[in-house]
Amino acid sequence: MAFHDEVEIEDFEYDEESETYYWPCPCGDRFQITKEELESGEDTARCPSCSLMIRVIYDKVEAFMEKISNIKEKTNPMIERAT
Ligand SMILES: [Zn+2]
Repeated sequence: MAFHDEVEIEDFEYDEESETYYWPCPCGDRFQITKEELESGEDTARCPSCSLMIRVIYDKVEAFMEKISNIKEKTNPMIERAT
């Protein structure tokens, strides 16, 4: 699996209505990843119009999670990349 690029989440454009982060794709469409996906540990944003993927960088994951949502339940957003 190869990533087209790696982009920090803070550089993404956030759409509050759809709770989705966007990043322009070279094909003219946009990579997208939802807040829900991020909260579940997903770090791959995909473009719906082509096969490219980018990796979302968010190493300050706990602070980031608190910032984007009012966490009601105790969750552990620790990211582990299983190999
Ligand atoms: Zn694309």
